Amino acid sequence: FDMFVLAFVERLFRPTYKKDDLVLGKKLGEGSFGSVYRASLAKKPSSKDGGDLVLKRASEYGAVEIWMNERVRRACANSCADFLYGFLETSSTKGSEYWLLWRFEGKATLADLMQSKDFPYNVETMILGKVQDLPKGLERENRIIQTIMRQLLFALDGLHSTGIVHRDIKPQNVIFSEGSRIFKIIDLGAAADLRVGINYIPKEFLLDPRYAAPEQYIMSTQTPSAPSAPVATALSPVLWQLNLPDRFDIYSAGLIFLQMAFPSLRTDSSLIQFNRQLKRCDYDLAAWRKSTEPRASPDLRRGFELLDLDDGVGWELLTSMVRYKARQRISAKAALAHPYFDREGLLALSFMQ
Ligand code: ADP
Ligand code: MG
Repeated sequence: FDMFVLAFVERLFRPTYKKDDLVLGKKLGEGSFGSVYRASLAKKPSSKDGGDLVLKRASEYGAVEIWMNERVRRACANSCADFLYGFLETSSTKGSEYWLLWRFEGKATLADLMQSKDFPYNVETMILGKVQDLPKGLERENRIIQTIMRQLLFALDGLHSTGIVHRDIKPQNVIFSEGSRIFKIIDLGAAADLRVGINYIPKEFLLDPRYAAPEQYIMSTQTPSAPSAPVATALSPVLWQLNLPDRFDIYSAGLIFLQMAFPSLRTDSSLIQFNRQLKRCDYDLAAWRKSTEPRASPDLRRGFELLDLDDGVGWELLTSMVRYKARQRISAKAALAHPYFDREGLLALSFMQ
């Protein structure tokens, strides 16, 4: 009851917005379910690049995305981009659209940053504040990748503990927040809230095949085939335990880890090729390694070397995330406690002494 009152009061005193308050700037993205723009308030238009807000104009699925963002705001605010407000905008010409507003977190997604030849060094000062005293090389790269993975898993743990599965985890949906100097998750357009029971997969909805786990359709038995509106299905925590839908995101996060370790797997085409190879190995990463390592390019070999540092803790973590069976994949919370991240804690301690 208290939580309900708090949520109500919070909404009552939060600023609300309407169409006329906003000036649209540069277009940032165009998906099949909506368009995303930079925006600013009409009262204080921003001079640079188009404003300090982000606006998504979405179709009917926008309703679910507003629901997810509201829940994240209250339950795990730091996991995702800072959501401000969502409303239904009805115009005489365009029909109805949902408008969603966030704070503009920063210019770069993890996908943008990973495209740079300089990755992960281009991220180093962004997340660690200063350049490390280590020489450029595997150890230093590994340290930066560890930090990114820890932030991504932390954000995922927040979502999963709230009962939300994202279902579209990929570098394009991970943004660097310049204000808080951490990576946050964006785009809850495909997310499912399984504890409260908002679980909606439009029939035509396609999961991004580049990052999707092999099970493809999580909780498929509970998913209605072609609903016309968000459908509530009462799913208990017991069902959550049985189906482990959160492990879908873990697989995707594992593929991001893989791409960070292996520069040659960062392009779409090489990732698609990797997926094909892994499928041929029955999704057994160890088997994939066995088949590729003997004839691996220097670049690929370097990736294995990075993951083999510290007795192979990195490789161990990667193989616990990218597994065929959802129930054999590590959870976000367990991954955060994995020795891969201990090592960094120990090193940080030794630096402080
Ligand atoms: P979709 O993928 O459905 O088009 P997203 O929510 O992923 O929509 O947003 C599209 C793009 O807009 C993102 O890839 C990112 O570049 C940018 N973007 C979205 N939200 C923010 C935000 N809060 N701050 C800065 N950029 C954002
Ligand atoms: Mg997106």
